[in-house]
Amino acid sequence: MAQKQQDQELLQYESRIKVPYTWSVGEVGSRFLMELKENRKIWATRCPSCDMVFVPPKKTCTYCFSDIHEWVEVKDEGVLQTFTVVRYETPLIPGKPPYIIGIIMLDGADTGLVHLIAGVPHDKVKVGMRVKAVFEEKRKGHILDINHFKPI
Ligand SMILES: [Zn+2]
Repeated sequence: MAQKQQDQELLQYESRIKVPYTWSVGEVGSRFLMELKENRKIWATRCPSCDMVFVPPKKTCTYCFSDIHEWVEVKDEGVLQTFTVVRYETPLIPGKPPYIIGIIMLDGADTGLVHLIAGVPHDKVKVGMRVKAVFEEKRKGHILDINHFKPI
């Protein structure tokens, strides 16, 4: 029997699996998301050594590896650094494609926040344009409590 199994061709089947999962966003992520939910505020962390201001906030500086404990509020508006048009549907993004995903340098931050850009025709989106967060009315402690960023 074992010999026969060795001679037998092993078939492979390609597919996708969908597995529900839950994970902790940690103390820094929790505070960030709760500020979005409760106060419509965007908070960042500042490195005590190199002064970098991170949005989303980080507990450890990715540049100098210092522990970060200082929180600073940043503006809910900033400059679009770059963007792309997403043409496929994904369960991570509500609505129907195409979507514009951009990296926004919020005023007061040193790192970019990745988020949706909307409220503007796609051919009018430009690097360098100023954008502002549009918050959901009913927020739940999720990055999509900011529905999107719109031009200002
Ligand atoms: Zn640092």
